[in-house]
Amino acid sequence: MKRVLILEDEVNIRSFVVINLKRAGYDVIEAGTGQEALDKLQQYPDVGVAILDIMLPDIDGFEVCRRIRASNMKIGVIMLTARTQEMDKVTGLMTGADDYVTKPFSPAELTARIDALFRRIDGDKRSPGELLTQGPFVMNVRNHTLEKNGQRIRLTQVEYSIVKLFMQNPGRALSREDIMAAVWGREYEGDLKIVDVNIRRLRVKLEDDATAPAYINTVWGFGYKWGH
Ligand code: CA
Repeated sequence: MKRVLILEDEVNIRSFVVINLKRAGYDVIEAGTGQEALDKLQQYPDVGVAILDIMLPDIDGFEVCRRIRASNMKIGVIMLTARTQEMDKVTGLMTGADDYVTKPFSPAELTARIDALFRRIDGDKRSPGELLTQGPFVMNVRNHTLEKNGQRIRLTQVEYSIVKLFMQNPGRALSREDIMAAVWGREYEGDLKIVDVNIRRLRVKLEDDATAPAYINTVWGFGYKWGH
């Protein structure tokens, strides 16, 4: 069964999420503090997606995300943000979250986002062992790894999916909508800004100089292109 962790200190919201995720067929692990979430993730290493509230009594959700990512790049992470926390979305994504959901959210919206992350995890397990090689980059599609000049680059699920899309379409201008549809799914109704934030993070990881990108090029007013 697919296992999800929900970290939320407000009991009413947490119960609401738990009930709805169980109804959707997930096995749900609950935590009320950041530390409890980190402990539970140690205890249940097969959690596929973690949903993290930001405002918590001990450490905030961004710090929890950072600590999860220090040892686990494979888990999907969704941040719960308040409507007014526009900057938090960007901060959350920069700390390694894959997605965010704004409160108040519908159960259908949350399960759609969770399903999208699980699909990405499962999709790669099914793909044949295959190497994509371009310039200094080698991607192993089965092992889900990327190397640059033989050095492993640690990527989140979303970052990996974006690079894979680029490496499968070298030299082709991809619109931000194309990238969103390919990585997040056609049914995803999020903000296109999520694409830009992930690209910014990827440039820091992949480029020799993130301020003068040579691999992920901007196509002004349209999107991005891998290579020239
Ligand atoms: Ca809270």
